[in-house]
Amino acid sequence: MNKTDLLIIGAGAAGISAACAAWDAGCRSIVLTDRLDSPGGILRQCVHEGFGLAEFGAELTGPAYADRLSERLSCTGVLFLPGREVLALTKEKTAVLSGSGGIEQVGFKRLILASGCREKTIGSLPVAGPRPAGIFTAGQAQEMINLCHWDLGSNIVILGSGDLGMILARRFTLEGKRVVSLVEQNKRYGGMARNYRRCIEAYQIPIRYRRTIRELHGMPRLTGVTVENLESGEREKLPCDTLVTAIGLIPERELIRGLEKEEWLSLAGNCKKVHDLADSAAAEGAALGRQIGEQLAKGNTA
Ligand SMILES: Cc1cc2nc3c(=O)[nH]c(=O)nc-3n(C[C@H](O)[C@H](O)[C@H](O)COP(=O)(O)OP(=O)(O)OC[C@H]3O[C@@H](n4cnc5c(N)ncnc54)[C@H](O)[C@@H]3O)c2cc1C
Repeated sequence: MNKTDLLIIGAGAAGISAACAAWDAGCRSIVLTDRLDSPGGILRQCVHEGFGLAEFGAELTGPAYADRLSERLSCTGVLFLPGREVLALTKEKTAVLSGSGGIEQVGFKRLILASGCREKTIGSLPVAGPRPAGIFTAGQAQEMINLCHWDLGSNIVILGSGDLGMILARRFTLEGKRVVSLVEQNKRYGGMARNYRRCIEAYQIPIRYRRTIRELHGMPRLTGVTVENLESGEREKLPCDTLVTAIGLIPERELIRGLEKEEWLSLAGNCKKVHDLADSAAAEGAALGRQIGEQLAKGNTA
């Protein structure tokens, strides 16, 4: 079994920043691992600009931000293990990793979980009707368009007007698709004003406020959604072949179920609390990495 002083799970903005800060604080035995083949986490699929004003003093795309963090990482002696899914953690401070080389075990003194978040799906809402093809979460859609260059559909309805919903509405429009409407339960869009200006106003994309989706239609492919006005109760059917749900993110903490009170465990980034800005996930990771790195460098692991 391999052993390390500090194991960090997740090489997104939070995990990389934690690793670099722990190294800078004097800890010399650090393993950073991720199921993906390159560091950066969710940043790799966010091809729009708007990252890094606080951390790098420039508006970068997600991949450019990830590259800057990766450069920092490569200036340290942190051991990065890509392509490894952490399957389980034990109370005896061992992680079980699965990769193309098989199953490995890594023992550690301290652990930072920086595993990001997952998306709420349509299954979490009271929506009637069948579950045809053509329904995606926003993160799935973003990955399939930006990284795989797949064509998801032509007439799109987006449920939720947070940053992710607005950014995707612009992305679909730039791809030549028709965004039929965003559907938002509140009286105002949910994301940042700058994203509303740049994504919605600039491309004149319609938003239906105080509305939600009550029913899906079509089989095997989606043909439309029924939208309900939450004030009047009126319903309208919007024809579409694709529905994208951007209805919220949930911190990803499955791995630590039953271990939450262990003193060797700490959390950073979106698995602790969802951050709107990569800079704030990075800053949280760096602060934690510095603190734990100092303790480990002094030989105090408590
Ligand atoms: C669509 C979208 C747009 C955004 N736009 C902006 C923007 O314009 N400006 C801005 O500043 N911020 C933006 N953000 C927010 C910002 O990108 C994130 O808050 C931040 O990057 C999260 O970093 P993280 O390290 O916590 O998580 P992540 O980047 O999600 O990293 C978590 C990593 O953990 C890995 N992992 C999880 N579980 C395991 C496991 N069991 N084994 C191995 N590896 C595992 C994952 O593969 C992933 O690489 C946006 C976010 C999204 C989703």
